[in-house]
Amino acid sequence: MIKAITFDLDDTLWDVWPVVVRAEQLLHDWLAARYPRISEQFTALELRDLSEEVVVARPEIAHDRTLLRKEALWLAARRADYVEFDVETAFEVFYVARNAVELFADARPTLERLARRYTLASLSNGNADVRLIGLDDVFSFSLNAIEVGAAKPDPPIFAAARQRLAARPEQIVHVGDDPEHDVRGGREAGFRTVWVNRTGRVWPGGPRADAEIVSLAELEAVLAVWELDFLSASAP
Ligand SMILES: [Mg+2]
Repeated sequence: MIKAITFDLDDTLWDVWPVVVRAEQLLHDWLAARYPRISEQFTALELRDLSEEVVVARPEIAHDRTLLRKEALWLAARRADYVEFDVETAFEVFYVARNAVELFADARPTLERLARRYTLASLSNGNADVRLIGLDDVFSFSLNAIEVGAAKPDPPIFAAARQRLAARPEQIVHVGDDPEHDVRGGREAGFRTVWVNRTGRVWPGGPRADAEIVSLAELEAVLAVWELDFLSASAP
């Protein structure tokens, strides 16, 4: 039987880009007030692009979006000739806004119903905080690439989830929007996979997910069919 369901966060439970763009703009406004040479030299978008420079210079921290943002801010401060820079407060301005997400309408109702029946956990490559977002009541635990030290689709985060869940991989369903991170990663970890394709994207190739849905509202029906399969397979 299915024991647990792991969920991706960004773009699975909420739209991530609107909050990131808003958070970057608020950070830019904050910089304009305190470190004006940075905001004069870099637009909000150019500050984001500095993260890519940091990844090239330090690929070993590519999985850590928090550290990447902080290092990119340091880089901007140095280029704007600031010797002292309050990177922690700057990041906090971004981080509070980044967590002010608007859940998809189908997210909380589905999670609440599923949490009565299964153990739920979140597995994210991003740095969202489910406590700040107010979803810590439905998830038994949350893992991200920063804590685990590797991002999806690499195995460690799925292995860590399986250990915490004390379940066999085939008893776990992973649900996410990213064909590579969520579907390939989950499948290679032995989990059942569900691709959340809200926007009618074309499957990019390679083995498909075990199920595809356009809304989380469809998830319970998918699980019900799989539960029946288990029952008929184990019937005498
Ligand atoms: Mg995602």
